[in-house]
Amino acid sequence: MSDNKPDVKRWHPQAAEYESSTLRGSTMYAIYAFPCCGRKVGVEEDVPHDAPSQYEHEGCEDVPT
Ligand SMILES: [Zn+2]
Repeated sequence: MSDNKPDVKRWHPQAAEYESSTLRGSTMYAIYAFPCCGRKVGVEEDVPHDAPSQYEHEGCEDVPT
């Protein structure tokens, strides 16, 4: 059976880690960094959220099959 893996061909093998928060305009963003490649992703903090998905088109490795 499938897990809930999105239909994305690229991913980050390591989970994003919370790094800091930053104010951009009037919106607070939580900045997460992927240890595998250093890519940083910001997610809005005023809505409940989990760490960014490891699956994204900007991922640094191909998703293993
Ligand atoms: Zn990565």
